[in-house]
Amino acid sequence: MAVYSLPDLPYDYAALEPHINGQILELHHDKHHAAYVKGANDTLDRIAEARDKGDFSSIVGLEKTLAFNVSGHVLHTLYWQNMTPDGGERPDGDLAEAIAEHFGSFEAFHGQMSAATTLVQGSGWGVLSYEPASRRLIVEQVYDHHGNVGIGSVPLLAFDAWEHAYYLQYRNVRPDFVKAMWEVVNWPDVAARYAAALAATPAG
Ligand code: MN
Repeated sequence: MAVYSLPDLPYDYAALEPHINGQILELHHDKHHAAYVKGANDTLDRIAEARDKGDFSSIVGLEKTLAFNVSGHVLHTLYWQNMTPDGGERPDGDLAEAIAEHFGSFEAFHGQMSAATTLVQGSGWGVLSYEPASRRLIVEQVYDHHGNVGIGSVPLLAFDAWEHAYYLQYRNVRPDFVKAMWEVVNWPDVAARYAAALAATPAG
């Protein structure tokens, strides 16, 4: 049985228009995310085969492929939940306070997150993460799906900066797509993830 499965989108393909059009969402979910799910399952099978045969000559490539696909699956699953047709505005409560404390202000965080996403070289993500060793919020600039990430960081809010996330609508103008992303952020979802991450790492 497959270990990983493609979650349903929590809304219709066109639900995020005009910010993200339905064609992008359909392809992004049904083709791209589905490919990461399949890639993760196939790679687990190939690693199991290697164990059965006692032949680990391909293990370096397999581990890399596993990290790429599992991380792609995890980030896309987060990404769909991070967006909502009723999004935008700003966070409130504990999350708003933590952002102000750890970034200086919401505006400063907004600037850093936008720049980290816009300036990804090649394919990657801008991610707001909870870093448990410091119990702080940080922004990570993720390469592909899994590079440049601090071990243990818990992703809370992910902006996909791969061309497949915006090119059909925004062409090469990634900054306009990043601007649109802020209009669909599901802040209650991000706040719930922050609360859960804090609760899972009590102060030592
Ligand atoms: Mn993507």
